[in-house]
Amino acid sequence: MTDLTADNPADLPPLIDPFARRIDYLRVSVTDRCDFRCVYCMSEQMQFLPKQELLTLEELDRLCTSFVDLGVRKLRITGGEPLVRRNIMWFFERMGRHLQSGALRELTLTTNGSQLRRFAQDLAQIGVKRVNVSLDTLDEAKFARITRWGRLAQVLDGIDAAQEAGMAVKLNCVALKGQNDDEFHAMVEWCGARGIDLVFIEVMPMGDMSISSEDGAVSGDPMRLDQYLSLEDVRRQLAERWTLSDSAYSTGGPARYTRCEETGAKIGFITPLSHNFCESCNRVRVTCTGQLFMCLGQDDDADLRKVLRASPDDAELHDAIRRAIARKPKGHDFDYSRQRVDGQMPRHMNVTGG
Ligand code: SAM
Ligand code: SF4
Repeated sequence: MTDLTADNPADLPPLIDPFARRIDYLRVSVTDRCDFRCVYCMSEQMQFLPKQELLTLEELDRLCTSFVDLGVRKLRITGGEPLVRRNIMWFFERMGRHLQSGALRELTLTTNGSQLRRFAQDLAQIGVKRVNVSLDTLDEAKFARITRWGRLAQVLDGIDAAQEAGMAVKLNCVALKGQNDDEFHAMVEWCGARGIDLVFIEVMPMGDMSISSEDGAVSGDPMRLDQYLSLEDVRRQLAERWTLSDSAYSTGGPARYTRCEETGAKIGFITPLSHNFCESCNRVRVTCTGQLFMCLGQDDDADLRKVLRASPDDAELHDAIRRAIARKPKGHDFDYSRQRVDGQMPRHMNVTGG
């Protein structure tokens, strides 16, 4: 075994991948369930995993703690909707102890905002300083259409609750052709007035919604191409009204930031399709069933649930994590440039987490 557990976790060597990238950012999906059914993320009739397949909260604690021992400094909790998992505050509190010890620099979450009114104060108390809320539109009817099951007012109230609790809010907005592309100026204005940073995301080919043609061949999902809007175009559109200055600001995530001079807020762009950002990738993802994905856009994974359940020995878990990181690929293969969806992944986004 290459990695014997040191008496002091700080003595363990960090996680370095084959391309000399240091892996210090972990995103963990704590559930595949959600109270929304966003059209680009899930089908309306989703089959969720049987409960026994999910890692228990205790297993999630042990797993995340191992990553922290191996040098992960930033932990983002996601889903599905993380705040619908029963007793999830227990898990946040457990992670809070790594903030207190200084081992973890940042604990954050990505949420649809529906449960923030309930949990914002607790999250802030635990040490969560920033929260990403996904919101693609400020129009009630459109919001209901995109999320299928969501209510805009509840999410806006959740955002208020997060700000009242002192957390910084960032909005994630998936740019959807013909759906919210008439609202981008309004969103910049709305966010600017509330001191909220806004990040646009290109829709990614996650989840198999492909169709079979008569000859039985399965082609990439045509809906994705219909929805896809290059953020280069979004940025051009925004520049007609706003002064966007390039900014060196980084949260350690994949967004490239600009500063909107008129509002003072940051506007970020996550462009997996039109501008590949893999060369600086510092992160890996764990699903709610304990599969470690070294790349969001590749299939290779390591079954950490098996290791967790096979032995209480953390050295074995550390070793399995190191062996997986040694296989981290250079990047994803998503590509829309040939007018069809290449590199499509069969996993839905709620399984791997965004
Ligand atoms: N439920 C939470 C939420 O919506 O914020 C967390 C999980 S959700 C899967 C994480 C992020 O992934 C959201 O910002 C969502 O908009 C984004 N997302 C989901 N499916 C996507 C897709 N096909 N392409 C791009 N982003 C997607
Ligand atoms: Fe749920 Fe988030 Fe997926 Fe929407 S994007 S269905 S809120 S997991």
